Amino acid sequence: MVERKKKGAVEMRRPLPSGADSIEVGPAGVTIVITQAFCPNGHNLVRANDALFDGYPGITLFVEFPEWSGEVALSPIHGDHSRFGIPRTVPNGTRCEIRCPECEVELPVLKNCGCDAGGKLMGVYLRKDLSEGDVVGICNVLGCYRSRILDKFELLSEFVEDEDDS
Ligand SMILES: [Zn+2]
Ligand SMILES: [Zn+2]
Repeated sequence: MVERKKKGAVEMRRPLPSGADSIEVGPAGVTIVITQAFCPNGHNLVRANDALFDGYPGITLFVEFPEWSGEVALSPIHGDHSRFGIPRTVPNGTRCEIRCPECEVELPVLKNCGCDAGGKLMGVYLRKDLSEGDVVGICNVLGCYRSRILDKFELLSEFVEDEDDS
């Protein structure tokens, strides 16, 4: 008995050089995807069974608004604002606490966001050793354009300019 296996549908995920192991560059070379992200206690927030964004698992966080709390999946794709989980009854501009869904530790504050709602950028580590140079940020205000995953280059440019460039 001979079985044929189609190889075309198999997507290989190569290990990248150290320091870049959390970021995958898409086929066209333009899509940057975060493939792992960690809470301060080292839990991986990218869980394979969670919501998919263009086929990539999202970054799952536990958020607490005054009127609702639960798990939210943010797109791991750079520049993508999409997310799953927050009900429409939570109005834009509402501040939340952002926690790890596994241990419920609060994410560390990186800096003030600078948005009108007084948001703070909360940090997610890209490396399991929690190296401070590999942190991405998320504003804790719903509807802030920075309430998505910001890569470290965006964060760096904001540290320098701190201007609203929306
Ligand atoms: Zn945790
Ligand atoms: Zn903000």
